Amino acid sequence: MGAETRTKYYLWTVGCQMNKADSEKLAAGFDRLGMKAVDRPERADLVVINTCSVRQHAEDRAYSKLGRIRDLKKERPGLKVAVMGCMVGLKTDELAKRFPQVDAFARPQQFAPIMELVEGPAEDLGGEFWPTTYAIPEGPTAYVPVVHGCNKFCTYCIVPYRRGRERSRPVDEIVREAAYLAANGVREVTLLGQTVEAYGHDLAAQPDLGDLMREISAIERLQRIRFLTSYPKDMTDRILWAVAELPKVMECFSLPVQSGSDAVLDSMRRGYTRAEYLEKIAEVRALMPGAGITTDIIVGYPGETEADFQATCEVLESVRFDKVHVAAYSPRPGTIAFRKMEDDVAAEVKAERLHRVEAIEGRISQEINATYVGTTQEILVEGTRGGQPFGRTRTGKLVHLDMPARPGSLVNVHIEHAGPFALRGVLEDALVVA
Ligand code: SAM
Ligand code: SF4
Repeated sequence: MGAETRTKYYLWTVGCQMNKADSEKLAAGFDRLGMKAVDRPERADLVVINTCSVRQHAEDRAYSKLGRIRDLKKERPGLKVAVMGCMVGLKTDELAKRFPQVDAFARPQQFAPIMELVEGPAEDLGGEFWPTTYAIPEGPTAYVPVVHGCNKFCTYCIVPYRRGRERSRPVDEIVREAAYLAANGVREVTLLGQTVEAYGHDLAAQPDLGDLMREISAIERLQRIRFLTSYPKDMTDRILWAVAELPKVMECFSLPVQSGSDAVLDSMRRGYTRAEYLEKIAEVRALMPGAGITTDIIVGYPGETEADFQATCEVLESVRFDKVHVAAYSPRPGTIAFRKMEDDVAAEVKAERLHRVEAIEGRISQEINATYVGTTQEILVEGTRGGQPFGRTRTGKLVHLDMPARPGSLVNVHIEHAGPFALRGVLEDALVVA
């Protein structure tokens, strides 16, 4: 098909890594159908907005994007517009009323309504989730979703309602995708799941995440394996041992605690107490003393008192996370918290608590990063920004290099400077150039 006749698509994405992976897969499907990506909606025949619903702020960004698309559609009525992702629930009538400019709504990973807009796939893209349609790698790192959905139903969270129940992909299917990525220049895969250690329990042979990592480790050209997001109760000793034992698996954990108060954790239905969470951290550190650990915190959850918040600050001070993602509680229609609890922490109190968490995290991150100065770290060079190469340590620290290095190479870097967000260093040698 000549370039001038190809359907042009513009794909805009907000939200988590899983959403980015969904967009990459959709783009790969479009590319297989001979469509062409463009970087501005003005140049597109089809606009797809991939949305996030985890907080109101993310929805607002999609609304504002859709407002601009509405104007474009007035000028060009032939333009097709699709909205996909977590803003799309079972019922779409409210959304359709609010956004008459949208031609199709697609739930996360349910690409069929979008494909109907482009007159359906001309070839078989591989069934649900298009398991044989692989995202085209853009560099040495790639995301690979391994378990879709979530069964946990934390009271505040919309994800299980939008992404459905946990469904694991078969081991061989994931290994084939990882091997394809490795053959196409990828050196590091990040295995994704809302609770990634839940992987496999719904498959007949019941493999766990460790078994999957073992299989992926055997792919020769792949150098590194990461995984997120962890859930304390699903993180078994067996999985932890696999992470510790397998040299290609990075000792880097994203382990959301959400709150340090037992009362709040119980109300959130997180399924663990503060002591149990701290025990899990101790287990990780006993096996992997230098492991990188990041967390997520929600401040201003319904009923959170100053004492509850203090308990969260105590956990931050005692665990000393490498990074803390903090968010103010945002009521999500449809969730248990929205239906049963009053959003009773004032906006200014939420903001103040958020800033207090940021201050603690900024200080601790800086202190931890400073301990890297003078050490040698193995870095996978991921790309260049402003002409300067960058990559990550095994523990997930961002490192800028003060000299040229080829993306995709594993190098030893002597760390010379540490800031709160990143480290800087110089090459010691080139370890592996694949
Ligand atoms: N599955 C992971 C877990 O168990 O924590 C995280 C997935 S969730 C989509 C990503 C983060 O968004 C959560 O860790 C939580 O901190 C935040 N989040 C989810 N719902 C929220 C809400 N209603 N208000 C504020 N933050 C929220
Ligand atoms: Fe949401 Fe809880 Fe599932 Fe994480 S574990 S995605 S916070 S319901």
